[in-house]
Amino acid sequence: MAVNRRDLLVQAGATAGLAAAAGATLQPVSAQAQQVPATWDREADIVVIGSGATGLTAANVARDAGNSVIVVETQNHYGGHAICSGGNLPLGGGNSYQKKYGIEDSPDLFFRDLTDWSVVEPNGFPTYRYNDREILRAFADNSPATFEFLLDHGVKIVEKGPDRQGGNGVGNSVLRTMHCAVMDWPMVQTGKPADTSVQATMSSGNGLMQPLHAAAVKAGVEILLEHRMTAIHRETPHSGRVIGIAVDNNGTKLNIRAHKAVIVGTGGSSGNVNFRRMFDPRLTEEYCGLAGMPWSTQDASGELAAMAIGASLWGTANFTGEFGDGITKPGTIGCQYGYVNLRWYPGSTVFDKARAIGLHVADWQNLILVNMLGKRFYDETGRQFTGNTYMAVDPYQPDSYLNAKNVKYDPNNFLNAALAGIGDGHNGGGPIWAIFDADAVTREKWDPKPPNVDYDAGFFFSANSIEELAGKIVMKYQRVPMPPHNLVGTVSNYNAFVDAGQDYDFGKPKPLYKIAKPPFYAAWATPVIHDTRAGLRINARCQVVDFNGEVIAGLYAGGESAGGFSMHGLARATCQGFIAGKNAAAENGKA
Ligand SMILES: Cc1cc2nc3c(=O)[nH]c(=O)nc-3n(C[C@H](O)[C@H](O)[C@H](O)COP(=O)(O)OP(=O)(O)OC[C@H]3O[C@@H](n4cnc5c(N)ncnc54)[C@H](O)[C@@H]3O)c2cc1C
Repeated sequence: MAVNRRDLLVQAGATAGLAAAAGATLQPVSAQAQQVPATWDREADIVVIGSGATGLTAANVARDAGNSVIVVETQNHYGGHAICSGGNLPLGGGNSYQKKYGIEDSPDLFFRDLTDWSVVEPNGFPTYRYNDREILRAFADNSPATFEFLLDHGVKIVEKGPDRQGGNGVGNSVLRTMHCAVMDWPMVQTGKPADTSVQATMSSGNGLMQPLHAAAVKAGVEILLEHRMTAIHRETPHSGRVIGIAVDNNGTKLNIRAHKAVIVGTGGSSGNVNFRRMFDPRLTEEYCGLAGMPWSTQDASGELAAMAIGASLWGTANFTGEFGDGITKPGTIGCQYGYVNLRWYPGSTVFDKARAIGLHVADWQNLILVNMLGKRFYDETGRQFTGNTYMAVDPYQPDSYLNAKNVKYDPNNFLNAALAGIGDGHNGGGPIWAIFDADAVTREKWDPKPPNVDYDAGFFFSANSIEELAGKIVMKYQRVPMPPHNLVGTVSNYNAFVDAGQDYDFGKPKPLYKIAKPPFYAAWATPVIHDTRAGLRINARCQVVDFNGEVIAGLYAGGESAGGFSMHGLARATCQGFIAGKNAAAENGKA
């Protein structure tokens, strides 16, 4: 059934209103299509929104093809989540690096792997079953060229054969993950270059984005920091080509004309509480430590601006699924941003926002995890779902139901348990707290003081008794007080399990340590949302498509703001930036 314009605006307006209510950062993106400006403040052939993996790849491609390019970036720094990433780059299909290490791959094999519905994860969820074949085909076909493009633009790869580390869900047939070497670029996590001994061997998003930024600047791409896109303009508010964007530069409003195209590379929507709750109502405010924040947010501004002029969403079933690392168990505790692969240190330019480094947990035997009511819910040493990488299914028979018999179902799932809710009539599971004692601090060699933990914002507490500790846990996401007798009971039960050598509640393998020596501690250990896996509807050329299935001329999107392809990360973003940049550059700019 065709959706009419009025329905669409009501829908988009409702969404944007929710975003504003969620306290989305800075200037809210307009709920309605804007009047076309009478005059333009700036102009370029191609206007790119966002300086992350999609944006800077697209900007370089378009500039190399002879276009003038303006990139607008809302933050006062470039790079997006990509620059804080692990730099693991699963771009396969038969690139020069795979060839160098004797790995035979092809776009056809890559496509077959990406579309093999028979490979499931330990919860039975197939990573790729619901993805759009047209978008996957374009990805598989353009992957090798994207990789060579990155090499040509200064990205250095760690000199070893491709492997399966950190590049989730790229299939079972061959090894495809390369790693961007950090080299001597300053790292955004610390403000300093990595130690010289690891510069050529350490994988890091700094090694991808710093060279891409340098290449763009050298080639004459103009990058406007602290310029937040607030609306996308079409020829008339609801029809015709996309002709530019509105931006907010610290209160000054500007309109930037795009002669050929606008490319959305805003990096997704998982940081916008009300937007993400359209897909999964459990994902309430307490999931506030998104991976990659506070370097950049994923506030849905690209999606909202495009929806306001008619764009559709795509592949929404995959938004934040219970598979792979869409949502993770934290690796560090006692701070707001506890993603397992990212820590912020005092030298970083965003440390004032991050506020604490966090305590890295080496051994989950050293603590128990409790919910808002002070109850355990899980074997703390357990994992969560794993991604399906090379040989994750072994033996592997392409397209065969028999693959499922090789996947071991894993009932000990942190995610479902942590998000399950506490029966108080509200959505979301509430905060999860790690509870431990002074002996655990000694065993882990922790120093539970700032800047390692965040007392001031309520992500860390200590007390001399368990009862007092429960009473102290007061912060904005703890929506009901933790009953002290619950926590006292939980700790005393657990200590009895240690005496008995058996966890009768959750089967933790031989619980080892009592929680007995004051002071006692409560550290934030709430699940971390990682990626955005659904977004704007695009086609194989990365053109944005409306609710009637029609291309919106002059508008492109890629990376985490694009839907239809739920693959994690840099490969999808750089490849779609490459495709979008190429096709945008070839536009003639005529309606
Ligand atoms: C800690 C961490 C580790 C990761 N490790 C890996 C890894 O090893 N391998 C892998 O494949 N993937 C990894 N990823 C995922 C990968 O970094 C992302 O999937 C990828 O960066 C997405 O690219 P993008 O262009 O869509 O968004 P981003 O790279 O986040 O870029 C989006 C940019 O748009 C800007 N922006 C947003 N809204 C506006 C607006 N309204 N106006 C102007 N600018 C705006 C943002 O500030 C940001 O700079 C990791 C992510 C994190 C957080």
